[in-house]
Amino acid sequence: MAEIIDGKALAAQLTERTAAEAAAFAARHGAAPGLAVVLVGEDPASEIYVRRKIAQCRKAGINSLEYRLPGATSQAELLGLIHQLNARADVHGILVQLPLPRHLDDAEVLDAIHPLKDVDGFHPVNVGRLSTGTGGLVPCTPLGVMMILDTVISDYRGLEAVVIGKSNIVGKPVSMLLLEREATVTVTHIETRDLHDITRKADIIVAAAGAPHLVKGYWVKPGAVVVDVGISRVALADGSTEIRGDCATQELGHARAVTPVPGGVGPMTIACLLANTVRAAELAEQAG
Ligand code: NAD
Repeated sequence: MAEIIDGKALAAQLTERTAAEAAAFAARHGAAPGLAVVLVGEDPASEIYVRRKIAQCRKAGINSLEYRLPGATSQAELLGLIHQLNARADVHGILVQLPLPRHLDDAEVLDAIHPLKDVDGFHPVNVGRLSTGTGGLVPCTPLGVMMILDTVISDYRGLEAVVIGKSNIVGKPVSMLLLEREATVTVTHIETRDLHDITRKADIIVAAAGAPHLVKGYWVKPGAVVVDVGISRVALADGSTEIRGDCATQELGHARAVTPVPGGVGPMTIACLLANTVRAAELAEQAG
């Protein structure tokens, strides 16, 4: 049977290490690392994510500052807040919860965050650093995916990796991280033809499509490692709903290891946000 990788347990271990680093930082500076979380409007899913992130900050000894702005906030007001947060020495990380209300320009807002405080790793400077392999802050979900893979793979050189999805927040950065480890990476997407023929050759599959149970048993070769990033809420015949990943995990007994949904990549994403915040605090320390 395939190993089921316990993302919750891995996330708890990472958060414990992050808490120790946050405590060491606080001992050196007399103040804990600080994360500013900005939420504009009242999107219910965003509310849940923000609440979870703030609760986890507390666990890791990170000081969270919450900014809840009305849905009618203007671009200039939001940019004004980002500039203030960029200038504050007690704020080491800035997270703007996406999606923003439609009238706001996401790209301009994300570009306004100082690259050293960009704990989501979405700023063009950090994207460039990732693609050139020159450090920088790495997006949380891709970082979590690599930490999960590292529990079962020690040497990626020459392995065939297939990434399903090419988004800026998951697919592309995961592909860059796998390339950096010298895997042979194929990036696929909605227009890719005969996707199952491509995945069938893969040693590693990272599924980040948001397409429930897309990856069937016959898509996966025996012994492959499968990381399921997708999360979809699916309506069932009895009127209830169920959370499903991109992989039909019950058909993947012949894989070497798989991640469950929920309880796989999700918990690691938040744990990596905390780790990135402490890393940003340490980068600020080094920059003087
Ligand atoms: P996105 O919609 O921005 O991108 C999806 C990508 O998948 C696109 O490149 C698209 O071409 C491709 N795709 C969609 N359907 C496909 C199909 N049938 N076959 C092949 N490719 C297909 O999504 P995203 O933001 O990258 O997120 C992807 C999924 O991961 C979503 O379900 C999202 O909820 C989930 N997600 C989970 C976490 C986490 O922490 N676990 C974090 C981010 C995203």
